[in-house]
Amino acid sequence: MSKEIYLDGNATTCVLPAAIDAAVQAMRDCFGNPSSTHATGLKAKAMMDSVRQRAKRLLGVGSGRIMFNSGATEGIQTAVLSALCALRERRERGDAIGSLLVYGATEHKAVPEALAHWNRLLGLNLELKKLPVGGDGRHDLQALRALAPQAAFVCTMAANNETGVVSDLAGIAAALQESQALWMVDCVQGLGKLALDLGSTRIDYAPFSGHKLYAPKGIGMLYVREGAPYTPLVMGGGQEAGLRSGTENMAGIAALGAVLAALEQGDTFRTPAELHGFREKLAASLRAAFPGIVFNAPFEQALPTTLNFSVPGLSSKELLDVFDAANVRVSAGSACSAAKAAPSYVLDAMGLPHWRSSSAVRMSFGPLASADTIDEACARIERCGHALRAAGLLDTPAGGASAPEGVLQLSLGGNHTWLLLDAPSRQCIVIDPQPELAERIDSLLRSHGYQPPLRLSTRNGAGWPDAGDIRAFGAHTVQRVALEGGQHAYLLCSGAQVDYAFTGLAALAALEGKVPADALVCAGREEVNACCTSLRAEAQAAAANSDMHLDSIALAHLLEAHPQAVLVDVREAYEQAACIPGGRAAQSVPLSRLAAFVPAWLGAADQPPLVFFCRSGNRSAKAAHCLRRLGYRNAYHLSGGIALASPALALAA
Ligand code: PLP
Repeated sequence: MSKEIYLDGNATTCVLPAAIDAAVQAMRDCFGNPSSTHATGLKAKAMMDSVRQRAKRLLGVGSGRIMFNSGATEGIQTAVLSALCALRERRERGDAIGSLLVYGATEHKAVPEALAHWNRLLGLNLELKKLPVGGDGRHDLQALRALAPQAAFVCTMAANNETGVVSDLAGIAAALQESQALWMVDCVQGLGKLALDLGSTRIDYAPFSGHKLYAPKGIGMLYVREGAPYTPLVMGGGQEAGLRSGTENMAGIAALGAVLAALEQGDTFRTPAELHGFREKLAASLRAAFPGIVFNAPFEQALPTTLNFSVPGLSSKELLDVFDAANVRVSAGSACSAAKAAPSYVLDAMGLPHWRSSSAVRMSFGPLASADTIDEACARIERCGHALRAAGLLDTPAGGASAPEGVLQLSLGGNHTWLLLDAPSRQCIVIDPQPELAERIDSLLRSHGYQPPLRLSTRNGAGWPDAGDIRAFGAHTVQRVALEGGQHAYLLCSGAQVDYAFTGLAALAALEGKVPADALVCAGREEVNACCTSLRAEAQAAAANSDMHLDSIALAHLLEAHPQAVLVDVREAYEQAACIPGGRAAQSVPLSRLAAFVPAWLGAADQPPLVFFCRSGNRSAKAAHCLRRLGYRNAYHLSGGIALASPALALAA
């Protein structure tokens, strides 16, 4: 298995070796409770105090307070609770407090959610007001100036987690100059990447999170300006000078201390110039691999460690899958479910077109990145571009890639479009084309020299060009069959034999008598059937499937007991092509091509065990189910996919 390249630093980072050592040392040698008055406790307290002092020095906060907590979500709650409690007290005293809780439109969800929660619980009922951002992702300062007189509390961020856009904190401070509003700045993505001299600003609260900069998860800190109102979120034993009760996470504090020490000493992390150089290299490789790529935030105003981009014609899921196959970890710039990507609210707020906000990918690295890792990432990016071109998913064809042929399924949101491809004559039929896939299909056919396709509908039979119901298709024929209610099925035949029936949304019962019992039925929706089935298979009781799911141990046993077993990789061709070669030999049958291979498997005399695998186990389960339904008892799949497979199996990834 090739080495993982982790480019998702804005989600979380690995832990700095010195931080691991510091945590281990804190657990082994300095395990005292810092509230204990004996020597063991004093030693722990001294360690904790030294980390606090270091944080204060680094952040330039001489007189303010730094308290340790569990992370930025807690820090944000504490800041919001503190500000809102103070506003309620002021209002009860009869002071004017303003009517608005203003937050940047691109804030992390923790901010508006916390504002809404505590506003409701405290009965403040102030108005939550989204502060717009411009096309460059920066806060609209003119809008802020207009809101400032009515603002009670303002929440902005130092740098955005999706785009890396760096806020104009000086501009925000100037816009708030005349305002009484309290101000929180979420500094999570800024630590170690921006100079944060908090003591010289009027910022009241600044939350931080350890795991975004090489400390472990579960440790964070909150800066509170001297004189800023404060209400503890957690009450109890009075730890952290009564500001945050609960025995401190000493291992986390020690680890965070090691990261802060590395920042202070300045010889561990890459310089800004080096980080800018890394971004240039990655951007150049991305441009070469994905012509037409657009970057979603201007580089000049963004952290050099974050690249957010969209590629015309490619969904974020496809890009994530191909990068994951190449062992490059990136994330969707938007929340992404298996079938449909939800657009990114950050990119929507910047006014970017829908296609960009719904297909964005974020590539982010930390200041510990090495030149070797970036070079290897560039090589793999190019590999991914090549794999997608070979699969016809990018408009520029890859020379030498063989043309797809036979039956191909393209799915979107649970709907299936089927392509019938006759490579010798370069003819194609598209059954139930979905408009969202039009560009994809055109590009696939164009890049492999296919003629413009015939587009047929199963809903109403539209698209059939002749008067008759049978037409030639290369060495095959295609037949149109009318079903009830104006629906149609299309049969792909070899001579007198019906190989496939494409049935759209028709219930399987509606096919009785119209479609031969053994023809492979390819439906138009996932609910009817994920891959393919046959009327005979459906009529027979479903085979017992309880032994179908294999974990990696069960798979190892099966392979040992049955050396003739066939491993089948059902990931898409571009994911397989993006893999670094090596690992156990496997037959390549993307799920979209499964129907094309089923007849040969069903027809094999010996029917060896077929073990399907994919990235996470979803697609392979569909494939194994499909084969079992069709009567292939020896079909299995790897639960959890290669993401969870033991390295001993060495599946290609
Ligand atoms: N704020 C920003 C900008 C973030 O990126 C994150 C994490 O994704 C958070 C807040 C929440 O941080 P934590 O995971 O420490 O609760």
